[in-house]
Amino acid sequence: MTTEVSPTLSHVSAQTESYLKDKFFGHVIDGAVVESIGGGTMPVIDPSTGIQIATAASGETADVDRVVTSSRRAFDEGTWRNLAPLEKEHRLHRLARLIDENRTVFGDLDAIDAGLLRTYTAFLEDFGVNATSYFAGWPSKLHGSIPPVPTGMNVQHRRVPRGVVGLIVPWNGPTAVVAMAAAALAAGNSVILKAAENTPMSAVLMAELAFEAGIPAGAFNVLQGTGQAVGSALVEHPGTDFISFTGSAATGRAIQSTAARSLTPVALELGGKSPFIVFDDAEIASTAAAATAAVWSGQGQICTAGSRVLVQRSIHDEFVAAMVDASRSVTVGHVFDASATLGPLVSQTQLDRVAAYVDLGRSEGVQVALDGGVTGDGGFFHEPVIFTDVRNEMRIAQEEIFGPVMSVIPFDDEADALRIANDVDYGLAAGIFTNDLRRSQRMTDGLDVGTVWVNTYQAGYPTVSYGGVKQSGYGRTLGEEMVHELTHIKSVWIAQ
Ligand code: NAD
Repeated sequence: MTTEVSPTLSHVSAQTESYLKDKFFGHVIDGAVVESIGGGTMPVIDPSTGIQIATAASGETADVDRVVTSSRRAFDEGTWRNLAPLEKEHRLHRLARLIDENRTVFGDLDAIDAGLLRTYTAFLEDFGVNATSYFAGWPSKLHGSIPPVPTGMNVQHRRVPRGVVGLIVPWNGPTAVVAMAAAALAAGNSVILKAAENTPMSAVLMAELAFEAGIPAGAFNVLQGTGQAVGSALVEHPGTDFISFTGSAATGRAIQSTAARSLTPVALELGGKSPFIVFDDAEIASTAAAATAAVWSGQGQICTAGSRVLVQRSIHDEFVAAMVDASRSVTVGHVFDASATLGPLVSQTQLDRVAAYVDLGRSEGVQVALDGGVTGDGGFFHEPVIFTDVRNEMRIAQEEIFGPVMSVIPFDDEADALRIANDVDYGLAAGIFTNDLRRSQRMTDGLDVGTVWVNTYQAGYPTVSYGGVKQSGYGRTLGEEMVHELTHIKSVWIAQ
């Protein structure tokens, strides 16, 4: 690692520059940014240059104890959960407004921290504002119910918060994932946001804004550090009542196994290997553009990346040629370069992982329709790659690569498409491109996934529940289901 100043920083706005001045990305406890008890730190690396741009806290078990103690106190004292529902709403709406006012800073942070193109981050800021606004409306709508019971008794089903909720998030869309804290707050919980070690920045800003919006001390804390050091300790901690995790399937399995010891309930939003299915009646040019966007956007580091493109054999060659054509305009470049359409991967580790999968693909004997490799000087850049003649059992077709690498697999008919689409461990999402309405319905019925898109891909909105089946996890993010998941039902029997 080098100590030079990253040229990337000269591109951030004046507002961001002022925010970053002497900024330490510590834990946020009781509204204050603090160092780790043991003084541990970790570098924040700019993916466009590989240069350290800031320093974050790196916690240990003692920090987890301290954060949980604060969150527990806030929950037990009821400073947040016992506020009147509409007062909670006012404060969460204030938070949404503050996110909106700080969207330039969030966008810059996502660019320099996660390596996301500045032209792409607007989507994350919109999502952060919209998701927070949506969840802000929930405190006054968390109705319980009154079930029918024999005469002589009354029963209330009360919907109550889980308690102290650990929200463990990944690095691939920082502002969007940290905004999920609003769901846990809307349900009345105290939230501990465990930021990803690659992207500690936006979590700190979000917690600071929450405090400014009137979320009381301890109701929204942030924990910084590695998954091994603080993530697992948070899951294991007896003061944690619920874990909402978004990340890889491997980590999801580790979390479920740790949580089993204390029977702490968990919700797991995991990875995917989603099929983008193209039938021979689809419009070729626009569908090819959508297929490439589904893998190149975010450099392929999106859980729903359409990384397996299933194409009906009769249009296979024409469709591959159209995708290669659509990809010719891809420009790999720096996050603040307005002409760039593909930025860096998040880290050297991720770059090495993607490069290793590309080597693996070549060694598995596939054809390379669009050739690419590691590129650039200093940053973590990888050009897009299209593999064709891929067999679904190959590792490049089965494992989540999380980079700009597409595997094209031909199919003969509807049954064949369905068999290949479902023949993976994951079940997060799928896209179907056809003008045949009945076929789209049959395919939708048969696909074993949490989300199906028909003639569109990666559409999302905070009102719409989202999540997976199989190795893509269980539980739902967004929508009514997420708020309900962050509560439990207490049944109260009252004798007449
Ligand atoms: P990751 O699993 O490595 O890490 C995610 C988070 O878990 C980080 O904060 C990390 O510090 C923490 N962690 C790691 N080990 C832990 C442990 N043993 N106990 C507790 N916490 C631990 O994932 P990542 O590399 O940050 O993100 C990429 C993955 O996230 C991909 O698989 C992607 O598909 C998935 N993802 C899924 C969704 C979804 O909604 N389904 C959304 C975004 C990303």
